[in-house]
Amino acid sequence: MDYEAVIGLEVHTQLLTRSKMFCGCANDFGGEPNTRVCPICLGYPGVLPVVNREAVRKTLVAGLMCGCEVTGVSTFDRKNYFYPDMPKDYQISQFDRPLCRGGGILLGGSGFSGDPLEERTVRLTRMHLEEDTGKLTHLGRASAVDFNRAGLPLLEIVTEPDMRTADEAHAFLTELKQLMQYADVSTCDMEKGQMRCDVNVSVRPRGQETLGEKVEIKNLNSFRAVHRALCYEIGRQADELDRGGRVLQETRGWDDAAGVTFPQRIKEEAHDYRYFREPDLMPLETTAESAREIAALLPEAPRHRRQRLVRVLGLTGYDAAVLTSDKALADYYERAAAASPDPKAVANWMITEMMGALSAAGIGLADCPVAAESLGELVSLVAAGSISGKQAKGVFGEMFRTGRGPGAIVAAQGLSQVSDTDAIGEYAAAAIAANPDAVAQYRAGRERALQYLVGQVLRLSRGKANPRLAVEQLRRRLGPQEGES
Ligand SMILES: [Zn+2]
Repeated sequence: MDYEAVIGLEVHTQLLTRSKMFCGCANDFGGEPNTRVCPICLGYPGVLPVVNREAVRKTLVAGLMCGCEVTGVSTFDRKNYFYPDMPKDYQISQFDRPLCRGGGILLGGSGFSGDPLEERTVRLTRMHLEEDTGKLTHLGRASAVDFNRAGLPLLEIVTEPDMRTADEAHAFLTELKQLMQYADVSTCDMEKGQMRCDVNVSVRPRGQETLGEKVEIKNLNSFRAVHRALCYEIGRQADELDRGGRVLQETRGWDDAAGVTFPQRIKEEAHDYRYFREPDLMPLETTAESAREIAALLPEAPRHRRQRLVRVLGLTGYDAAVLTSDKALADYYERAAAASPDPKAVANWMITEMMGALSAAGIGLADCPVAAESLGELVSLVAAGSISGKQAKGVFGEMFRTGRGPGAIVAAQGLSQVSDTDAIGEYAAAAIAANPDAVAQYRAGRERALQYLVGQVLRLSRGKANPRLAVEQLRRRLGPQEGES
């Protein structure tokens, strides 16, 4: 029988705030157990919670990034349950009036890294704000609890059951993580437990309308675990149905080492958490005006940035996906590309030489000794024919070792260049006057036209003009491009 899986996700991610959700304790990872605690996050009787405004703002940012409805009144509620990681015996959460409702995340179209080829929107049910619990560590017959995590602001994102494969679930999480990182809402670092994921999955014969029995897999702590657990569980449920058995509605755990899910508890009915309004907190109202103010400051979404790098800078979909996978990487790339006439070559340099050098040195981009502008300048030197590609690799190695700019290194190797801005400015003016078509194309947003003009400046200077200065002089004289503010 041919089966289809129906998958929904519940993602919890810690918000990047300075303090906890309802008290002034620091929001930091790690630390000696129970050092970042106070009577509020320890749930002492008689204390009053105070809402962290920044957590509310970041939740609204996350919602607006995903096209959610955010205006209206939202409330906090008590979710009652007894567990030692929650000293109040209730968690402050949001029940029927979450901060964000609806919205969705668009997947697909790029055709790589598990992203489906066809575009598909995964609808969101809601996003709401709640407080994190403490962390239990089981030590043989006893358990220890650390409340440093208790009360951290946690964003819960619930999807509609719109995914059909493990690949789609993986693509959704990848896109969600990028959105949250771009908007500075959360680092979504699953290794540090800052992002956790529960999945709901059922299977049904393809073409059948009614849903199969739903299984929940709790506490998956990496994207890879989500993918593996879904592949396993979809196969298990399909086998069960093929054998004529039935799938039990239950909660299952994931054994990462064995690569299997295992029963945890049968879910006879929904938990009764006896939600009621948190009497110590006022309702929150988001007006259309404040939503507009937040929306006006949203960053470019990673998907749009990928598309722009392909459309405007002429990158391949693969290059654009690699370079936008991390916002800092994309920012670095764009700074480097702006300092060079050849954005595609800059992308190649970053993906091969730069990322290779960083990984060999075991450091991240934040510690990269090569400034973005210097990389752009190096690529310009190659584009101008001042140095060969092979020489450039040597120069890059020197830049990475010493942090010096390519100009100084090239000069030390005896390559002469014209770096007189007046002289280059004259060449640039001449190149602009002689090439009205390229000028028009550049102004219409075609970055490649600039490369052509730089080539003309170099031709006029007989290859002696400093390409970075040529780019600067041309840009200054050409004025803004279409779409630039
Ligand atoms: Zn506290």
